[in-house]
Amino acid sequence: MGKAIRRFGVAVVLGITPAVPSAAEQTPSPPLVLTVHVDNHANISAGVLAGARDEASRVYRAIGVTIRWTEGANAATDASPAVRVLLLSRVMANRKIAAEGLPDSVLGQALREVGWTYIYWDRVKAHASKYARNPIEILAIVVAHEIGHLLLPDNGHSPLGIMQAAFDARTAIAPRFTADQAKIIRGVLGGDEP
Ligand SMILES: [Zn+2]
Repeated sequence: MGKAIRRFGVAVVLGITPAVPSAAEQTPSPPLVLTVHVDNHANISAGVLAGARDEASRVYRAIGVTIRWTEGANAATDASPAVRVLLLSRVMANRKIAAEGLPDSVLGQALREVGWTYIYWDRVKAHASKYARNPIEILAIVVAHEIGHLLLPDNGHSPLGIMQAAFDARTAIAPRFTADQAKIIRGVLGGDEP
């Protein structure tokens, strides 16, 4: 009886292994939680938003951080660290772009003092079309990048990975945080780093 149970257990483990490929290997010990509140002023469709959330979540899961997304009135109520993503409407975006003289290359901004990011959805769509990419993917990369700025010191840019300053370089391969950035972010979120 005992043997049968043990064999069954092994079979289950082997059975699920292929379904959870690299995430498990890449995830260092206990997952940390970051709450990200989304204000969808750009009226991005639920499907596009959900896709972008999944992609951005994957970037953070790879460094052991679980993103807890909230939207609308569902503001964060627990004590986990929280940041805000403002998906700007065209009017809001144009006003900010004009006021700050932002070049076309700026797809998002981060204001670390208040923990807010600003995402220029029209520009994200334009870039997706220019580089023949899925706008969901580009939105996810921009959101993950700008949240990265809220968590990393100084200007946060690096020559490799998702924190590359140049957008086209950043998207050339599956974007990830570097090992050093992962360590800093996990530390900021309360992880015990050696
Ligand atoms: Zn940047």
